[in-house]
Amino acid sequence: MKTLEVSTIGKAKVIVDIVAKGNPEVRPEYPMIPSEIACHNTGNSGRGANAEMHNRYIHNMALLPPQDTRYASWHFSVDEYFIYQHLPLDENAWHTGDGEEEGSGNRVAIGIEICEHVDQKNYHQAEENAIALIVYLMDKLKINIQKVKPHQAYSGKYCPRVILKRDGSFTKFHNRIAEASKGAVSKPVSVAKPVSKNVTGMRVESIYKGAEGLDFYSKATFNDKYKAGTLKYGYGFEVIEKLAVEGSYMYKVKNSKGQVFYMTTYNKYVKLEGEGKPAPKPVAKPKPVSSDIPIKGTIKVDKVNNFTYIYSDTSDKSKVLGKAYKNSTMHIAGSVPDWFEVIFKGKRAYVKEKYASVISYR
Ligand SMILES: [Zn+2]
Repeated sequence: MKTLEVSTIGKAKVIVDIVAKGNPEVRPEYPMIPSEIACHNTGNSGRGANAEMHNRYIHNMALLPPQDTRYASWHFSVDEYFIYQHLPLDENAWHTGDGEEEGSGNRVAIGIEICEHVDQKNYHQAEENAIALIVYLMDKLKINIQKVKPHQAYSGKYCPRVILKRDGSFTKFHNRIAEASKGAVSKPVSVAKPVSKNVTGMRVESIYKGAEGLDFYSKATFNDKYKAGTLKYGYGFEVIEKLAVEGSYMYKVKNSKGQVFYMTTYNKYVKLEGEGKPAPKPVAKPKPVSSDIPIKGTIKVDKVNNFTYIYSDTSDKSKVLGKAYKNSTMHIAGSVPDWFEVIFKGKRAYVKEKYASVISYR
């Protein structure tokens, strides 16, 4: 799980909106196996300083040149109504103030900011939503309650200040989390489906007003190396499909000449228009033996030191069918979030998306 896969936690609606790569002061991209959770208050009591505002803020910071920002980022902003996720769970953020060494809070802890704006109607609910989120993450990521800490435990900073000031220490809040994790309080409610809204055939149009235009890419990546051009406000392409890319999403699109490109799906920068065509659903489960699986493209296993495993299903607990060695290529039958569906010995199999790149796609 790189991002939350539920639509509601506590009484909050979950919105996953991962910031762009490019500014390491906001999205450092160090891989992380999360083993701790750090609790914060935002320290911003101003009117309107809710979770959505913090989401906008961190997105804005992510797009600025590093020198114009500071080393400040976190994974979640929580208020009485919303939980925004800004960074993938398997990447670190800068929020514990204890440096960047391996093992520091900044390299192991998920950062949760609880909003404290004066115009929040029910601050208590924001804390309850945060507690529900923490309980959810503890369960999903196998994080022990002892590893849920205040920011203060890492660097001494008086944070989360609202909680520390009210309770005198972090103990009461910690006890509330422990209670909730026994099933006493809010549990996550509904399960969200993977991205499957049909966007094929719709027009995606830039609504980005910056003079430099909105970047689009020749490959399914946000890497500048593959930047193919920019779209001015009002210009757009036809959508082929929506893909999970680098912990975020991209539209695979084509221009009027049929040339294929990739671009952001972030609704602050693009809008969709028109009707989607019915498209075949991506196949998520292996099918019985078939020698005529349609080839959708080719990947190259280029992001491994030596090899990665080929699995029978989209889980690293599924059966290992073989190894895909560095720089080998494989045909793919499609992709599902986090995985490439490859064709291995005439059958569908799965390779982790992060270890390979798409080199062609039809
Ligand atoms: Zn803090």
